[in-house]
Amino acid sequence: MIEQSILEITSDLSKANNIVIVPHKGPDGDAIGSSLGLYHFLKGKGHHVSVIAPNDYPDFLKWLPGQEDILIYEKDYMICRPLITNADIIFTLDFNDLHRSGDMQEPLSEANATFIMIDHHPDPAEYADHIYSDVTMSSTCQMVYQFIKKLRSVKNITPEIATCLYTGIMTDTGSFRFRSTSSETHRVIADLIDKGADNAMIHQQIYDTSSESRLKLLGTALQNLRVNKELRTAYITLSQEELDKNNFKKGDTEGFVNYGLSLEGIIFAAIFIEHKVDGIIKISFRSIGDFNVNEFARAHFHGGGHVNAAGGKSDVSLENTIIKFNTVLPEYKEKLSL
Ligand code: 5GP
Ligand code: MN
Repeated sequence: MIEQSILEITSDLSKANNIVIVPHKGPDGDAIGSSLGLYHFLKGKGHHVSVIAPNDYPDFLKWLPGQEDILIYEKDYMICRPLITNADIIFTLDFNDLHRSGDMQEPLSEANATFIMIDHHPDPAEYADHIYSDVTMSSTCQMVYQFIKKLRSVKNITPEIATCLYTGIMTDTGSFRFRSTSSETHRVIADLIDKGADNAMIHQQIYDTSSESRLKLLGTALQNLRVNKELRTAYITLSQEELDKNNFKKGDTEGFVNYGLSLEGIIFAAIFIEHKVDGIIKISFRSIGDFNVNEFARAHFHGGGHVNAAGGKSDVSLENTIIKFNTVLPEYKEKLSL
């Protein structure tokens, strides 16, 4: 983000009364963490701020400071619409295209506000007035920290802000182990701990609050694991019936896809989860190294994301989705096999 933009944003912020912050649909730790971190920061500056998530988020995030103030567009539509219409500034966080805001796309495209995008996904769309896009960043939370730094306000980071930003950096980096984790990520994390993020408590809240049924669902997922050694690929399926049997709740399958990558020699992992109500199969892709799952998801499964983490969907049956996956996989033989 160029200095001119920061000057303009500083000026826009000085005039703004109403600010809306929007994370992507199906918000994860980074989307909610960055939205709440920015929320506390802007509220501290005296603005009227609302976080509007397109839909609900997982229970393992429902302890974050300020999360009780988040409005859910899908549920609180009547309250959210006027907030969007009357906003002076709308921040969109952790996504690169308005269609990632689901049903909020329409009211957002009609809004008169100044749009500020903060995001680390490749190929940002052109809808925002100010685009802070950096694919080298581990997470949008790290970018919100940098954004606050650019506004010369690091001293205003409270324990609440530090907790929210720490959480999103931690979840998006797989607890600081993915390639996107840089020495700068660790410096930011160190400062967030100094500013009051209780790291042990945050890890415990996110990773050690599993229900018994979630662990049993993981057992089913691992039973369903299929491995294609030649193409160094592993994938998991979960049918609606299997989800129902294990009392599935939003967020329960978070992280399951990574088990495929924990196998020696495997560089490409996927999970296919049946959502009968929506009539779709939701897919997550992960890779190690140069295999680009963003391109794979875009090319075959109406999705996208990052080089090593992407998502997509399919509107045919689970069985036919797997057939399709296994049919396109050999096209990548050169990239996948040794
Ligand atoms: P996850 O697999 O955890 O849902 O998502 C991994 C990454 O891919 C995230 O950065 C997320 O924003 C992105 N992603 C997930 N689903 C979709 C999708 O349907 N479309 C696009 N463009 N990106 C997605
Ligand atoms: Mn992110």
